[in-house]
Amino acid sequence: MSDTDKPALTNAPQMYVHYCEEEGCKEWGGWGNSPSPVVPTRWWCFEHFPHKSYEQEQVLRRKRDAAERGNIVQ
Ligand SMILES: [Zn+2]
Repeated sequence: MSDTDKPALTNAPQMYVHYCEEEGCKEWGGWGNSPSPVVPTRWWCFEHFPHKSYEQEQVLRRKRDAAERGNIVQ
């Protein structure tokens, strides 16, 4: 079994407490984006993060497909 499908976490941990800003979502907002330094960073969980790369979208799609088949590999 390979474990290389997981996204690499290259950002340093942030000191702020911030949860996903998607309404009704209680996930931790570990994915931030700000268009410029003067704009406050907005935060989302991985699933709701609207600025994912193509590769990150593929990872999420594979996870959803696996969940639908009921064979999630942790
Ligand atoms: Zn979310």
